[in-house]
Amino acid sequence: VSVDTAAHRPASTTPGARTTSPTEEVRALLMEHRLARQDQIAALTFADPDDSSLDPGARLRVAATANRTLAEIEQALLRLEDGSYGFCLRCAEPVSSERLVVVPYTPYCVPCA
Ligand SMILES: [Zn+2]
Repeated sequence: VSVDTAAHRPASTTPGARTTSPTEEVRALLMEHRLARQDQIAALTFADPDDSSLDPGARLRVAATANRTLAEIEQALLRLEDGSYGFCLRCAEPVSSERLVVVPYTPYCVPCA
């Protein structure tokens, strides 16, 4: 009988939260983005310096952009934890869901960006 109660308990560690809550979905999405950026940065860091397909200047710019995006993703994950995710950091207005779908780690709404 103990199996029954365990099966009906939500798998999430957050009380009351369902496993498919929007927060969990956003978190999973942000994790994907973070992994992709980390892969990109690693690829740039360990790329063959003699590879002429990407000049050193361009390589640095791409790496800098990836690092900045990675920082924004980390910030978004923190805001997700403290409940401020989805609100513009500048004007405190809710960021449109359409924008969050395209750039889930954006700290600003469209007018402020
Ligand atoms: Zn704003």
